[in-house]
Amino acid sequence: MSCLFCNIVSGNIPASTVFESKDVLAFRDIAPQAPVHILVIPKQHITSAHEVHALTPSPLPAIFDAIHHIAEELNLSDAGYRIVTNVGNDGGQTVSHLHFHILGGRSMQWPPG
Ligand code: 5GP
Ligand code: ZN
Repeated sequence: MSCLFCNIVSGNIPASTVFESKDVLAFRDIAPQAPVHILVIPKQHITSAHEVHALTPSPLPAIFDAIHHIAEELNLSDAGYRIVTNVGNDGGQTVSHLHFHILGGRSMQWPPG
């Protein structure tokens, strides 16, 4: 299995898990860009957000349930936080398994680089 995040789902590569449900895993980013930097992924291999439109049932409700739960657990909801998903080369995607970054614990800038 060559996908890094599939290897994290299967336990072949360790990760610092913060949330797990039947279909979703969330773990700390190895190179955090904010005081809180979590990656939320479907356990199913989906290449990017560009592929989500074709999927029935949609993986998004379970992913956004996880994001809500994590933001509450880590006390991000009052101050706010950012959700990012990069798509493809120009989008800055480096791991080709759908993932949503949760970034929090500091004020975010706009526009992104
Ligand atoms: P992307 O650049 O595709 O939007 O995000 C990929 C993220 O995965 C990056 O923020 C990167 O730091 C993180 N990452 C890469 N390899 C690993 C790893 O082995 N473990 C964890 N926890 N995060 C990783
Ligand atoms: Zn994968």
